Amino acid sequence: MQSNYPVNYPLTRFPDSQIPARLAASGLSEISEKLQAGERLVLEDGVRLFDAPDLLMVGWLANRERERRHGARTYYNYNIRLEATNVCVASCLFCSFARLKPGDPGAYTMSLEEAWDKLRKRSDQPLTEVHVVNGLHPDLPFTYYTDLLEGFKRIRPGIHLKCFTAVEIAFFADLYGMTDEQVLRKLMASGLDSLPGGGAEIFAERVRRKIANDKCGTERYLDIHRTAHRLGMRSNVTMLYGHIETSEERVDHMLRARALQDETGGFQAFIPLAFHPDNNQMRKLPAPTASDTLRVHAVARLMLDNIAHVKAFWIATGVEVAQTALWFGADDLDGTVQEEKIYHMAGSRTPEAMTPRQIERLITAAGREPLERDTLYNVISHASV
Ligand code: SF4
Repeated sequence: MQSNYPVNYPLTRFPDSQIPARLAASGLSEISEKLQAGERLVLEDGVRLFDAPDLLMVGWLANRERERRHGARTYYNYNIRLEATNVCVASCLFCSFARLKPGDPGAYTMSLEEAWDKLRKRSDQPLTEVHVVNGLHPDLPFTYYTDLLEGFKRIRPGIHLKCFTAVEIAFFADLYGMTDEQVLRKLMASGLDSLPGGGAEIFAERVRRKIANDKCGTERYLDIHRTAHRLGMRSNVTMLYGHIETSEERVDHMLRARALQDETGGFQAFIPLAFHPDNNQMRKLPAPTASDTLRVHAVARLMLDNIAHVKAFWIATGVEVAQTALWFGADDLDGTVQEEKIYHMAGSRTPEAMTPRQIERLITAAGREPLERDTLYNVISHASV
């Protein structure tokens, strides 16, 4: 990849002499001192970080925390993403991906062979992860999902299967007459290794009722992750931002994730997901700005003192903003992805795939050190670009 990405980094390093006055002018001195003392930030601190006029100082604070944990290290993985069906009985207002019924224009459901082929045809790629999320299809048998997992493991026994959001797990339980735990146990027996973080949206009732009324609620989402962690799986947690939520609701969302993490320690990464307004029922709203995206990543890094990684999902943020977020608290860029429908149907203009070499180059161009990881953050190789 030619480096047409900006290279004027580091963005959030300033001469030491400037820092105290800039922090004070933004009302952030007290937060900075709390962080230095290892004190937890509270809801009001998070709201203040969202309101602070000096975005670069918020970024400076987040970068200090990021570098304490990870130095310049920036993770990515070699994965494929697959959405086996977009047929979905729910109607989340922000969703451009779902189709109500099989046969509706644009509706699709892959046969198992089609899904397995996505992995088979990449036998030359040293992939470490298959990431699967789907619509909530009312007519597929449960064996579709267990066979899907078992087939992937037959094709590549060592591959990590990060599949099915908590929303899907809840749907399976209700549709097939099982408890959430029974669903998780059966899927694990078929090869499920971890859960992705999708479906969290915004935990606050006011927002969830409006934008995602007919899928599993906040308590159940969190409880499914709690159960998954108890059963020995790791997972991620997301936040869909940039639509109708307030700053306070964003911070509340982070605090609920933090509270569960205190209990279980099972979340690996927090992933802010930018709302995209094309082709969905919220298309009158503007997409979040780059500065809002940077701030969300920074505040997440500062509030979530017990979650190791903050991921800038480049498909959602755009490549350049993801790259910049590496100076605003993010230490992970997700992966090669390769095929992506959910964001591209909502108007994302990012590429659908990057090679490891392309990801490494954009991390290096941002003045950071690329490291390939597996799903569980074991480092696979030191990248050299
Ligand atoms: S976000 Fe998920 S659950 Fe909601 S409509 Fe889209 S596919 Fe269905």
